[in-house]
Amino acid sequence: MRRSLSVKNLWEMAPKPVRSLAGGLLGLVPLPVLLGGAFRRNARFVERADRWSRDRTREHQLHALRQILELAYDDTRYYRRVFDDIGFEPGDFRDLDDLQRLPVIDKAILREHHLDMCTRPVTDASVDYTSTGGTSGVPLQFHIGRERSAIEYAYLTTSWGRIGYRPGMPLVVLRGRVVPMNRRGLRHEYDPALRHHYYSNFHMTDENMRAYVEHMRGIGDFFLHVYPSSVATLARFIRRSGARPPGNLRGIIAESEIVYPDQRRLAEEVFGCRYFSCYGHTEKLVLAAECEHTTDYHVWGTYGYCELLDDQQQPVTTPGERGEIVGTGFINTVTPFIRYRTGDLATYVGEACEACGREQTILREIRGHRTQEVLVAGDGSEISWTALNMHDETFSRVRQFQFVQERPGEAVLRVVPGEDFGEEDRRRITESLSRKLEGLVAFSLKPVDEIPVSPRGKAIYVDQRISGVGGASRGDA
Ligand SMILES: [Zn+2]
Repeated sequence: MRRSLSVKNLWEMAPKPVRSLAGGLLGLVPLPVLLGGAFRRNARFVERADRWSRDRTREHQLHALRQILELAYDDTRYYRRVFDDIGFEPGDFRDLDDLQRLPVIDKAILREHHLDMCTRPVTDASVDYTSTGGTSGVPLQFHIGRERSAIEYAYLTTSWGRIGYRPGMPLVVLRGRVVPMNRRGLRHEYDPALRHHYYSNFHMTDENMRAYVEHMRGIGDFFLHVYPSSVATLARFIRRSGARPPGNLRGIIAESEIVYPDQRRLAEEVFGCRYFSCYGHTEKLVLAAECEHTTDYHVWGTYGYCELLDDQQQPVTTPGERGEIVGTGFINTVTPFIRYRTGDLATYVGEACEACGREQTILREIRGHRTQEVLVAGDGSEISWTALNMHDETFSRVRQFQFVQERPGEAVLRVVPGEDFGEEDRRRITESLSRKLEGLVAFSLKPVDEIPVSPRGKAIYVDQRISGVGGASRGDA
């Protein structure tokens, strides 16, 4: 899942006079001003739409869908052909359910036809070429309009506002940016315009993490903007080293990877503040943010149209049932994504939240089913590594870990030992895992100095090398 929000793009949103300011002065400009009128207009809209009634949202969706269908039909060769084949004209689109007449599309279709899906010349200055990250397989590439950043950022900052974030507050970012060492030997960089403190999550050694945490104490009230895996590494370090967590941390925004409940609980315990997540994609299809009162995801109905479909591609309408998230984005007007299968699964909860009263589609337990997170047993069955569910002290003195599997029924568990890792840890991990795996997968433990992360710095928990298993990874949400 989700989303590359490039700083370069945020910068391009800024009015020209602001961009010409020197670094020190930039820090004095309120961030909403710096991000420009498009951001502020969008932020005001999103704020209002957050409290719309269900009917009001559906009316907006009907209008937005008709627009994107018309655009796709009028300006792209691909959709013109597909709609004509089934006798569908966007003018006939009267009801949200009419969308079900259209076929769903997926990565394979996009890969084959993406040039026929564009509504503008791809050489246009307003068009970016982007790709979703992938730990394996071929990254998915497509075109998208530059205006997306202001819209996207408005949705994100409004979502983060549910746990107290306001644009302009310092953000500590541990999200796949390679940060060189500064003159004081710290892997830290500061962007005065955005108030972002970047630390390198490619170098999470105990020594560096200790220095990061010390540095964070001096930056005033801040929020963490992290991958679930990078904050898990930091939380485990604090727990095992006994370091004091920064008292000026106000909240944790953890995105772009699956959120595992154990990691959430550990981080909330260690840091003593709320762990909050949003779900989205680089393709800008569906954006959902957690409730301030619960960990249920609230789908932003004005960002895109979200369908949850079962195996027969019928809508899931029974609370508690799971389905695949299929999205039609409103924001990407360069490459319309109409009924695009995200490969992510979620549990349907309902159309309103009892905790906050918002009339929005509520989802729970969003998981990518194509992520590489399964081990294959000797009998060919697949075991999700989350099922191994070690929320005890099993990995407390381990910095990072990863399964590597080349043959069904066998795996190697690589671990990067933390300080004080010893025989007892080795025995505990072996016992605990063996109990869970019940002989389905025999594994051996191998201490290593380093475990590679994805090109964007995300954790890969299972390096699955058996062909046909795993496959494409979740996009860059
Ligand atoms: Zn709610």
